[in-house]
Amino acid sequence: MAVGTAGIASRLREVIARDRVIDDRTTLIPYMYDASFWSLRQRRMPDAVVVPESLADVVAVVRVANETGTPIVARGAGTGQTGGAIAPAGGIVVSFARMRAIQEIDRRNLQAIVEPGLVYLDLQAALAEQGLFFPPDPGSGRACTLGGMAANNASGPHAVRWGTTSAYVLGAEVVLADGSVITTGGVHSKALKSSSGIDLTKLFVGSEGTLGIFTKLRLRVQPKPPARAVILAGYTRQVAANVRYTDAILRKRAAVTRFAEDEKDVARLWAARSGLAAATALAHPGKHRIFAGEDLAVPLTEIPHTVRRARELGAELGIAVVFYGHFGDGNVHSAILIDPDDADEVRRADELADRLHKLAVEVGGTVTGEHGTGAVRAPYMRAEHGDALDVMKRIKDVMDPKGILNPGKIYP
Ligand SMILES: Cc1cc2nc3c(=O)[nH]c(=O)nc-3n(C[C@H](O)[C@H](O)[C@H](O)COP(=O)(O)OP(=O)(O)OC[C@H]3O[C@@H](n4cnc5c(N)ncnc54)[C@H](O)[C@@H]3O)c2cc1C
Repeated sequence: MAVGTAGIASRLREVIARDRVIDDRTTLIPYMYDASFWSLRQRRMPDAVVVPESLADVVAVVRVANETGTPIVARGAGTGQTGGAIAPAGGIVVSFARMRAIQEIDRRNLQAIVEPGLVYLDLQAALAEQGLFFPPDPGSGRACTLGGMAANNASGPHAVRWGTTSAYVLGAEVVLADGSVITTGGVHSKALKSSSGIDLTKLFVGSEGTLGIFTKLRLRVQPKPPARAVILAGYTRQVAANVRYTDAILRKRAAVTRFAEDEKDVARLWAARSGLAAATALAHPGKHRIFAGEDLAVPLTEIPHTVRRARELGAELGIAVVFYGHFGDGNVHSAILIDPDDADEVRRADELADRLHKLAVEVGGTVTGEHGTGAVRAPYMRAEHGDALDVMKRIKDVMDPKGILNPGKIYP
């Protein structure tokens, strides 16, 4: 039974606390945006935002969406760069801002159970008190949530050594499109590995809220190196020698290099690396960095060609681009810098982003190494995945027959 746009908020207020439902247009404005350039131009407002406080709230909201055929989009911190947390067709946005608890840190079994709205850095701070850490390390870690990371299979510079978020999600509580709830990875399991049944956890991780909504995550964590000082004392020289060797190679080309072995200086350099995505805008004062075509991942052997060709494409179209990345795993980030009020420059930037995505597929890579598909990269899924896309779509249709879960994303 369909309810009109105006009716959905009233219907939601019948099933969860009234003040957990937002529908005044001014308060809805922030929910029109994530970090994508796409969302800045789409300006699509959801009909209502709900801020659940419990699994029961989420279930009640999903049931309303299912009964009324209303689109429903989960939202963490909205730092995504693909329009993933936006509701382009209107509907309900579910903000996880009030579900951010750490339910358990099981130090001896090396895992933590958290709610999806938990901010990454808050998890790291709590783990550090127990001598543990969570290896994936997105540059947006001060803001982004574990739910958003799991939905996008996020990663960062540590991925080359430790792998991506997917490797650290052991199980999840998921609300399905009809409001039923499952636990993947074993209902009572605390195992660190399993080959029992189809790995549904892997199916949900990276599916960007299109197959189900996470309400709990069971995460694998790692011990921080014990007796760190001793280990550092044992190897320091070796590490320093390796770094100096690398530094000498880099100096042949780099205009500036910085060498750091002191813990404080190392932390400062990593902090600078975390701020790099935003800092690229400083390369061209007066221009803005936009997130579009920003996340290519290519075979290691194709990195030089990709960067060279991408630079040529930028020059052909008269668009400034700065490159950085974590080249150890083939992830090339391109920062396109434009004046967003210049319509012709925006058109050329769109063209550049399109060509960059096609370039990634041409060289045997992927249009997104870690930021996800969302609405922005859905048009490239066929070229990248061929017939496998049809299987993804069939899975989506089975899991979400009414197409209410984050419509307009991934599947073109
Ligand atoms: C400056 C900057 C730097 C960044 N650096 C990195 C980086 O180094 N590595 C990287 O991987 N990404 C990076 N990102 C992108 C972004 O931060 C990540 O994709 C992050 O994981 C998104 O988390 P979020 O909480 O903001 O999710 P949102 O943007 O709110 O949502 C992202 C997706 O997750 C879905 N989702 C959210 N919560 C749930 C849930 N509970 N259940 C199901 N689906 C859900 C949403 O529907 C959406 O599809 C960066 C972004 C910025 C702005």
